[in-house]
Amino acid sequence: MKIRRYKKVNKNLGFFTNTYGFRQPYQVLVDGTFCFAALKNKINIADNIPRYLQAEIKLITTQCAIIEMENLGPKLNGALLILKNYSLHKCGHEGKPILGSKCFLSMLGKTNIEHYIVATQDRDLQSIVRNIPGVPLLYLHLKTPVLEQPSEASVKFAQEKMLGLREHEKLYFEKLKEKSGIVDEERPKKKKKKGPNPLSCKKKKKPTMNTTSIKEGEQTVTQKKKRKRIKIPKHVIDELKNKSS
Ligand SMILES: [Zn+2]
Repeated sequence: MKIRRYKKVNKNLGFFTNTYGFRQPYQVLVDGTFCFAALKNKINIADNIPRYLQAEIKLITTQCAIIEMENLGPKLNGALLILKNYSLHKCGHEGKPILGSKCFLSMLGKTNIEHYIVATQDRDLQSIVRNIPGVPLLYLHLKTPVLEQPSEASVKFAQEKMLGLREHEKLYFEKLKEKSGIVDEERPKKKKKKGPNPLSCKKKKKPTMNTTSIKEGEQTVTQKKKRKRIKIPKHVIDELKNKSS
């Protein structure tokens, strides 16, 4: 079971490294809900997550996420202490804090340029994150960390990117050809092929008639040959019949 799980993680992480350029140490953007679930299930995030991902990670959070936890009351103090251990990334809401989930979404932007892995138990945030291409999602299933397989949005965007690259390459090579004069060499060749044809047709009107007549002659010869082959003299057939009987 364990080997299977690690293979899955490798596959899922591999997708993001290969198609989106994620690199170690992976930046894991953690919110209060993830810390709360970890504490509840007695999981040490700093120990378990790197072991699960088999990679170096950097645990980070934002000021907004911390302030939200502070505002939720003393019940979350334990989780708050864990969250405060992580390094703070500037989110741009300093002095005017917003909801942790909204802050994270603003950090991700449209395409997650900073290559964050989002660690959250917030179902609403998870479902929005799945619609942003190139965001790996990490959550806890009881005591087990789960790196979700790439979302449809992530896969689609990667495929379109690949197709776009191919088309871009085609255009680039066509432009290169034009610049280097390769296209100019090809064009006259086509013109040469097109050019002589109408002229030769006019001149070769008579010869074409001849060729058709020859062809017709050939056809009649072959037809005659076929007929000859089919025809078997009656006395031969009679002899064959006598032999067989
Ligand atoms: Zn913020």
